[in-house]
Amino acid sequence: MEYTVSLVGNPNVGKTSLYNRITGSLEHVGNWHGVTVAEVSKSVHHGDCSVNVIDLPGLYSLSVYSPEEGISRDRILSGESNLIINICEVNNLTRNLYLTLQLLELGVPVLLAVNMMDELYKRGKTLDCKKIENALGIPVVPVSAKRKEDAALLIDKSIEYIKSSSRAHTSLPYQDKLPLGKVSAIIGDKASEAGFGAKYAAIKVLERDGFVIEKLGLTEEQIAAVDALGDTQAMLAGVRYEFISHICEGVFTDSESDPAKKTRKKAGSHGLGFSRIDKVVLNKYAALPIFFLVMALIFFVTFGLIGNFFTWLLELGIEKLLYNPITRGLTKVDCPQWIIGLLGDGIINGVGGILVFLPQIVLLFFFLALLEDSGYISRVAFMTDGIFRKIGLSGRSAFTMLMGFGCSATAVLTARGLEDDTMRKKTVLLTPFMSCSARLPVYSAIAAAFFAGGKPFVIFGMYILGAAVSLTLAAIFEKCVKPLKSGKLSFIMEMPPYRFPTAERVGQIIWHNTKAFLVRVGTMIFALNVIVWVLANFSFTAGYTVGKEAKSILETFSGWIAPVFAPLGFGNWKAVTSLIGGLVAKEVVISTIDSLGGVEAIFLGAHPSLSALAFMTFTLLYVPCVATLAAIRKEIGVKWMFFSLVLQICVAYLVSLAVYGIGLVYYAHKGVFIGAIIVAAVVLVCVCVLVSVIRGRGKHKCPYCSNSCAGCTKGKDRENKS
Ligand code: GDP
Ligand code: MG
Repeated sequence: MEYTVSLVGNPNVGKTSLYNRITGSLEHVGNWHGVTVAEVSKSVHHGDCSVNVIDLPGLYSLSVYSPEEGISRDRILSGESNLIINICEVNNLTRNLYLTLQLLELGVPVLLAVNMMDELYKRGKTLDCKKIENALGIPVVPVSAKRKEDAALLIDKSIEYIKSSSRAHTSLPYQDKLPLGKVSAIIGDKASEAGFGAKYAAIKVLERDGFVIEKLGLTEEQIAAVDALGDTQAMLAGVRYEFISHICEGVFTDSESDPAKKTRKKAGSHGLGFSRIDKVVLNKYAALPIFFLVMALIFFVTFGLIGNFFTWLLELGIEKLLYNPITRGLTKVDCPQWIIGLLGDGIINGVGGILVFLPQIVLLFFFLALLEDSGYISRVAFMTDGIFRKIGLSGRSAFTMLMGFGCSATAVLTARGLEDDTMRKKTVLLTPFMSCSARLPVYSAIAAAFFAGGKPFVIFGMYILGAAVSLTLAAIFEKCVKPLKSGKLSFIMEMPPYRFPTAERVGQIIWHNTKAFLVRVGTMIFALNVIVWVLANFSFTAGYTVGKEAKSILETFSGWIAPVFAPLGFGNWKAVTSLIGGLVAKEVVISTIDSLGGVEAIFLGAHPSLSALAFMTFTLLYVPCVATLAAIRKEIGVKWMFFSLVLQICVAYLVSLAVYGIGLVYYAHKGVFIGAIIVAAVVLVCVCVLVSVIRGRGKHKCPYCSNSCAGCTKGKDRENKS
């Protein structure tokens, strides 16, 4: 038999974790809201059945607010699932059950899985599932996504419930308190015409659900008649919550009988005691410095301490165990020079040049996952919300932008969780400026060659520059580009508890990213490197060009474009070739450079380190890769994709030009340069003070609180009363 079950629930309750556990998948899990933005499914064999499990984006109610909630609602309404497994989180049961009631009102087959039971047990408590079962009339299964047995049990129970003929029709007693009869009389046959059950349609009309009201096609008179019934939305929410509190009364009991659980109770609490940590992490003054410190620490460990050591080890291994013996062996047997070149420089040096960064990339992904899983990223979103709002973004954009440190293409897809259309567009356009992990080998190799001890600083600087450019652009869009002006935004943010990632999860992250990286290097990057090497070493007329006067194909072609980059300090064909290769995948920039003779052969002239810095800046800011462009097209359309392409290239050019120009001034007139910086800083401070004084003059001091608070209602209220 073949069954389809859908995992439905509020965001962050562990749907994807359970999906991964049931199907053995590695879908993205994170301790924040809006991780899953699209439907994924996989079939598993269980006994003599095949079960197609569908993981869906989280939703709070069936009246949707964001596009990805729409995906879930459509899947639920399609009626294609044999069973909806509604997942609730034990720590938030009261709130989560609100969706459960809506599912039951809809009349679809539902089984309730209460997840994160491990956290409840740690607090020395148990859950009376029988009471909930009796109240709702559906099976309730306590689970923990951390336990394999629980996933199997959940599927067992689901199949059993699907097969059982005795599926009770749930009666929800609170519905008797609602004027459903009156509403049904008002909407008449429209419910059956639109394909909805009469009771469900009446409830949704009471709830003012835009989707259902539109489908029903109610007339103005009908809507007015419903309005005359009063604030039915509040009435509905009231009776639902009253019922939920009745269900939840006394369901959590102490597991006094289990001494093991009792001792654990002392040690553990819900999450990691987050209010105390949050007092520090979200402190008004300390929050941003702590965030910078955390990021700096991550970069120093990734690039400085551990990453560097492993990279050095791999470099040594590749040179001593591969490059030297193979090229020597081939030379000994008189192999043609071009084959030795292709194998030695094109493949071993080129592809190997990327491979050595595996430890750094895996470390970066590991730290990103740690930030995500611990719940810290949600705090970052919270603390940046205020600043982001001023430039037409919201803290929710911070999730997407921080994910951009991992992979630009996948980060762009996470923007789907943003409710406001303009803000989503803006976030998608800005995310590619955040430095993705594929750009890391470029910085690492170039900085190691030209900045030695200052390498981690230069790399950290690149990440900061990327973020600064994207935030500056956000401000410019907000002020000057009308279609990208966000206006007033509402954003509901939830703070998940802090959680420790398990060793298993850490292992999974390392394995998953290592595999993905090796596949990328072994396929696309390998193939591109061979192509680039051949084009860079052969000409149409003279064949293999090494040792001859003839120009290779790429030398000719890239040579035409090279002068465009001369003002940036790297107007040579090798640099241009690597940048063109980088359009396919950013790692190719460095593998191409390696196979064309290494960084020292590219950045020449009077100030090679300055050229290298301008080149790194260009690499940071121009198009991340074609996959990102495809993701942008998918999310915001082809017109905006072209806009983003032109924007990225222009911004990259201008900022690199500025970096190179400022660098040249510095080298030419060090004294004047430092003087100019001091003068500029003083002028800036003066302007800021002046602006704040002028702005402050118009505001009256609020007598009821210590600020000159424009939004303070205390004063207004008292004034009104008097
Ligand atoms: P989704 O948004 O519903 O798909 O939730 P996720 O699967 O992404 O999980 C949200 C967070 O909860 C992640 O940090 C998970 O590691 C964590 N999590 C999920 N299930 C459990 C569980 O059973 N126990 C504990 N302790 N944590 C869990
Ligand atoms: Mg999910």
